Order: sequence, then C-alpha cells, then structure tokens
Amino acid sequence: MVDQQADEPAQPKFKRIVLKLSGEALRNTENGDPIDGDILQTVCAEVKKVHKLGVQIGLVVGGGNIFRGQLGAEHRNVDRTTGDTMGMLATTINGLALMDCLEKNGVPVRVQTAIPMDKVAEPFILRRAVRHMEKGRVVIFVAGTGNPYFSTDTTAALRASEIHADVIMKATKVDGVYDKDPMKYDDAVKYEELSFGEALGKRLKIMDATAFSLCMDNHVNILVFNMHEPDSILNAVMGNKVGTLVHE
Ligand code: UDP
Repeated sequence: MVDQQADEPAQPKFKRIVLKLSGEALRNTENGDPIDGDILQTVCAEVKKVHKLGVQIGLVVGGGNIFRGQLGAEHRNVDRTTGDTMGMLATTINGLALMDCLEKNGVPVRVQTAIPMDKVAEPFILRRAVRHMEKGRVVIFVAGTGNPYFSTDTTAALRASEIHADVIMKATKVDGVYDKDPMKYDDAVKYEELSFGEALGKRLKIMDATAFSLCMDNHVNILVFNMHEPDSILNAVMGNKVGTLVHE
C-alpha cells in the first residue's frame, strides 16, 4: 500500500509525530501478561519502519495495563491522587520496556519523565526533547503530565503542542472513528475524516474532554488508527488512507 515512485522515493507527509500508545496495547489478552514480549517487539518494529524514513517521533505511552488511578480509588481503597501517581509510575514501566526493545532493534531512544527520577530517565526538558528528535532519537515521554487527574491522552496533546508535532497518531483497537461502537454494531459506519466541530456535535468520544480541547485549541490534528494492522503507522505517515483524521 505504501506509494513508491519508480525513480524518486515518496516523502513522508508528517515530519514530526506524537504516537500515543495505550498501556492496554501491550497486554496479552489471553494470559493477562501486562507487557507481552511479542507485542512489544511488533510495536517496536512498526516504529522502526517510520524512524527509518527520518520521521521525528515522540512516543507517549499509557499505563492502563498496570494501573489506573480512578480504578485504584474505586476498587482498592487507594486515594485518587495516590492512584494517579501509581498510574504515572506504570507509564514509566511501559516506557522503559519500549526503550529497551527499541534499542535492541537499533533505534536510538531517550526517555524523559514528567516526575523527576534521575536514576531512571532524563527529566522532561522541552528543548532537549526537540534536540534529541532532531538528532534522530525517539523520545519516550513517561509519567504523564506529572499531575494527577489527567490522562496520557492529555499528555499526548500537551507534548504534541509543545514540540509542534504535525499530528497525534492515536493507536486504538479499531481502525478509526465510527458513528457507533463497531465492536457492538455491525452497521457502524467509519468516518474517513472529521472536523473538531463535527466530532463535538456528534458527541464522538475520540479522547477525554481535556485532551480533545487541548488539541482543538492548539490546532493539533489527531489520526485515530489501528496499530495491529501491519504497516499502519508507516502508511499513515506516508499520507495513505488509514484510520480517521480529526482536523481543524
Ligand atoms: N495519569 C495521571 N496523570 C497524567 C497521566 C496519567 O495521573 O498526566 C495516571 C492516571 O491514573 C491514569 C494512569 O496514569 O489512569 C494511566 O494513564 P492512562 O489511563 O491515560 O493510560 P492508558 O489508558 O492510555 O493506558
């Protein structure tokens, strides 16, 4: 599906992206292993294909496969703020797994954390993050925004705004945005593209409200796509029709 001219290789449509990966995407749904080695390798191989094209990649990873603050508060008698801190630490665990796997695949990486932990990773420093990307290093942003009551979708919106990313690529289990849940309804219709206003008007849940409004206010487009389809990030970056683009 990747377009290639005979004499001149096609150029990527996006130069700098934020890839948002949910923690759940790393889980083995059959045996419950929160970080599955094969899934991790598949994800990193897909990232490598895009990195090879010279695309600058910021990766924001969630922590839902390990801990979510709200659930901690509801089911485990853990205070929401404590739970959120645990959730942010969970994103750090996932980020370190991705770092290691990407390095094993020959992709240079730096991890930057919003909660300082100097034995583990660099602190988040915007200019340093941009410099890493300019030098061809994938930057993995962990520990969310560093604040409770936020999500890693909001982190992706924030980091994308800060680094002036061309797009947030949000990996989900389905291949785009539908008018109703395609897992439940056979007649669900997929949108090829949508404006922020249309998504709001139709009450489509693309990200949580904080993340969505941050993207809208800062003109950051969102591409919702299915990461489990081979070459999906590559195709999206090359401008081929993949998923649903939510735009201004
Ligand atoms: N979290 C937080 N502040 C942030 C980002 C995340 O407190 O800025 C916590 C929150 O408890 C959240 C958890 O970290 O539930 C894991 O993040 P998220 O739920 O976004 O992960 P995902 O659903 O993408 O796996």
